[in-house]
Amino acid sequence: MSVSIRSGFESIPSYRAGKPAQLGPDGLSAKLSSNENPYDPLPSVLDALAAALPASVNRYPSIAAPELTAALAARLDVAPENIAFGAGSVEVASQLIHALAGAGDEVMYAWRSFEAYPILVQLAGATPVQVPLTADGGHDLPAMADAITDRTKLIFVCNPNNPTGTTVTQAAVEAFMQQVPEHVLVVLDEAYVHFNVDADSAVGLDFFKRYPNVAVLHTFSKAYGLAGLRVGYAVAQPEVADALRKAAVPFALSALAQAGGVASLAAEDELQERIDVLVAERERMTTELRAAGLPVLDSQANFVWAPAGTASDGIAEVFAKRGVSVRCFSGDGIRISIGARHENDAVIEVSAAAA
Ligand code: PMP
Repeated sequence: MSVSIRSGFESIPSYRAGKPAQLGPDGLSAKLSSNENPYDPLPSVLDALAAALPASVNRYPSIAAPELTAALAARLDVAPENIAFGAGSVEVASQLIHALAGAGDEVMYAWRSFEAYPILVQLAGATPVQVPLTADGGHDLPAMADAITDRTKLIFVCNPNNPTGTTVTQAAVEAFMQQVPEHVLVVLDEAYVHFNVDADSAVGLDFFKRYPNVAVLHTFSKAYGLAGLRVGYAVAQPEVADALRKAAVPFALSALAQAGGVASLAAEDELQERIDVLVAERERMTTELRAAGLPVLDSQANFVWAPAGTASDGIAEVFAKRGVSVRCFSGDGIRISIGARHENDAVIEVSAAAA
């Protein structure tokens, strides 16, 4: 038997089995390579999972996820028909591409950006169109508008961008949308939106409410700390959300995932306190790493990006020896997730030696 898939998610280090960092000399093992949330689940979320557990094992979950849909629709002020779930927002992105683009169609995104985009586009048989980021790590939306052809079906705009942490402004997205033809769907991937405190940044839901060809991707994996439960969703026009549901594999969203999502929405105040701490830690890391000589960009996500070029591999190696695994994009830069305070302290301490 021969299969023709050239490269899949195994090529992305973060998608391989969650490898802990090697132990540092003081026993530290900090995994700061996958933009996860360092906190344990909230007690109220664990209670909800425990209550849902027995019946979640031998019974199939509800495909419609009625409680989570209702809670989310109320929270976001959208109609239930606008929401389509997946096992993580990466699955929703995959469904979007499969539903809207095939052989001969183009799917555009900035590069560098979320590493799953090129793989998903290729798996769908469509053509990836990568538009380089600006020198300061941001989206070049005018260049992206210029790159639209009659074959463009989808455009991903990652805001804040993974791995650079940069945002697109409301004004820039407004100008961009004026140039995007209505038959092209613009997907604002807001996986890190909760960490974004930039008042000028575009807000996906505002654009969704004003432009029928805008969809928004959100996840419970990052700010809500449910990466292992796999809950993501799109907010889109009913026709698009419907197409996503039709393209979905049944039962992808487990009952535990649904219960975790509902409990997290009920605990948003407590989660916000944790987000505030992570944002403060991000600012501390930015200041301290710069002082140590690492070229760190301003970030609006739960990670920082240091475009260290050819020095990146050596820097990542110094971190690894200290028990801290960071994400190295060889020859380009390193991305360091914001961890627990003691993990961030270790990053800061070792950064002087690394830079
Ligand atoms: N979008 C972006 C920009 C991401 O960085 C990630 C995860 N790294 C995802 C989507 C997917 O996250 P999940 O599937 O866990 O929701």
